[in-house]
Amino acid sequence: MNIQTALKKGRLKLRYNNVSSAQLDCEILLSKAINKDKKFLILNLNKEIEKSDFNYFDFLINERSKRKPVAYITQKKDFWKYEFFVNENVLIPRPDTEVLIEQILEITKNKSKLKILDIGVGSGCVLLSILKEKKNFRGIGIDLSIKTLKICRINSHKLGVDNRLKLYKSNIDNFNTGKYDLIVSNPPYIKKNDLKCLEKDIKFEPAQALDGGVDGLSELNKVIDKSAKLIKTKGCLILEIGFDQKNKVKRILQKKGFYIKRVVKDSSNHDRCIVSIKL
Ligand code: GLN
Repeated sequence: MNIQTALKKGRLKLRYNNVSSAQLDCEILLSKAINKDKKFLILNLNKEIEKSDFNYFDFLINERSKRKPVAYITQKKDFWKYEFFVNENVLIPRPDTEVLIEQILEITKNKSKLKILDIGVGSGCVLLSILKEKKNFRGIGIDLSIKTLKICRINSHKLGVDNRLKLYKSNIDNFNTGKYDLIVSNPPYIKKNDLKCLEKDIKFEPAQALDGGVDGLSELNKVIDKSAKLIKTKGCLILEIGFDQKNKVKRILQKKGFYIKRVVKDSSNHDRCIVSIKL
């Protein structure tokens, strides 16, 4: 069988299972199966593939048909300028979260030595991207899950920022160590009831990283409360929020002594990030 026919077979199977990005997903999975990049596929549509490679491709297509996200099948996801190792123990980095990176780089553009805390560090996509950009910054990441922290450590190793990163397994209530120039968090902020209605693919991701309680704000509340204690005066708190949480989160921040510097939208024009300063 040649590449073109294999792609077509895969695409039909994914479409049949209502996978909306069937063509792209097929290309990524066939690239993985034959260990070549996407460009090779497009340039060699008539090239025959080995039976064993096709069988492996078919296995990957079946995984995707069950709605397992492509990032978990390939165990990698591009975020910002880097590639992150991921598996089902971490939330898959979202392009919308890159807004946080842009804001952190903007707010720290004239700073050289800062100590940054990431609450719920996950794969490390936010904190490690910053450490990679700012060679004199140091990062501290906390997370509830030791399996998650292991993945973050794999990524810090891959990116060569190991020696500027400390990781702690802790929930937010028990963490009381240090004072920080900047705190960042992409906490779980989806309402418990909404979680059930989301795309099937999301069910593969750790619920702990998505579930923001009945009103979606329970973790954001805790993050803001703890940040007020751990942040230096004039320190900056940068949060990712749900598209409809701007006003509520603004009020919580103001109550805890933060000044709202700006609210930033993501590429779909949804409010996604709040930048605030501790007075
Ligand atoms: N933005 C993510 C989503 O919509 C949610 C991330 C989060 O809860 N922190 O899937």
